[in-house]
Amino acid sequence: MKTKTLILTGTVLFAAIVIGSKTADAKDIFQLYNVQSMEHLYTGDAHENNQLPIISPNWLKEGVAWVAPDSGSPVYRVYNPNSGEHLYTTSKYESDSLVRSGWRGEGVKFYSGGNIPIYRLYNPAAGIGSHHFTQNSYERDSLMKSGWKYEGVAMYATGGRRPIANNHKIVDGIHYYDNMLIANKKHSLPSNYNPGDNKEAVTSLRRLQQDMHNQGMNVSNSYSGFRTYAYQAKLYNAYVAKDGKAAADKYSARPGYSEHQTGLAFDLINNSGQLIESKREADWIANNAWKYGFIVRYPEGKEASTGYQYEPWHLRYVGSSSKAKSIKDSGKTLEQYVNAPGGNYN
Ligand SMILES: [Zn+2]
Repeated sequence: MKTKTLILTGTVLFAAIVIGSKTADAKDIFQLYNVQSMEHLYTGDAHENNQLPIISPNWLKEGVAWVAPDSGSPVYRVYNPNSGEHLYTTSKYESDSLVRSGWRGEGVKFYSGGNIPIYRLYNPAAGIGSHHFTQNSYERDSLMKSGWKYEGVAMYATGGRRPIANNHKIVDGIHYYDNMLIANKKHSLPSNYNPGDNKEAVTSLRRLQQDMHNQGMNVSNSYSGFRTYAYQAKLYNAYVAKDGKAAADKYSARPGYSEHQTGLAFDLINNSGQLIESKREADWIANNAWKYGFIVRYPEGKEASTGYQYEPWHLRYVGSSSKAKSIKDSGKTLEQYVNAPGGNYN
């Protein structure tokens, strides 16, 4: 056990960020650490990742261990009720044998595929048996030097480790950075997240529209706000059918990835029913939206950060005019402001 504790500290020291080639349908495999049993647990289930630390404070979230494909060779998880250990194997034979000898089958939690090997090691000193899984070859080699046995490549991944940021938390599958909800091409929303239009935001939007109208600008009373996951799926699939996936991805969010599903995003519409793009209106919005608690979410020339081209009409409510002013005055995108990953899909 002592050995393992030391080595786990080494995990952090040696943690290498590997920018892997990830597929479009990649799935984060979360890593949790149990301070009592000193075991690492890996799961592709965001709900399990969120629930375990609530059920037992012994479980700590350690971020994303690797990125797995959404399909491929199934990885079976088996649990040893005597030692409390979990084992992960792509071998149905091994899984079945372990279950016959008293382990509990926990089903398929994620898949293997891609070109990043995940190494499996075994610690003979742990008695009943203790396995460790890592994508880090430095960690593998240092474990072997301290007596662990290398058992080969357990599975493959499409992306590497991503330690959890200090200001990042995931609550019920929703990502927050500095308590600011972030939905972008790196952070999706659960399909059942269905908050509707945020009332406070709509009240503020109404004031903004009225003030624009009073100044003789081309703005209508309508807007495009909350969209359900199902509606976004319908939209996106129709665009894919019409233009193909690559083209559709350039102008339409995939279901679960649209900021409109947060109820905090609103598209402004002009009197001809078009999204507002005209210079006078766009300039006014860029200069004044903060007073109403909104930011222009996809500013010009920031596609690499936001994942979207300039959309002068798309506003995001951030809760207060002081917060909106602070973001606007920083000249940063929302991603840059809270230090969250952005840009294109994985
Ligand atoms: Zn929009």
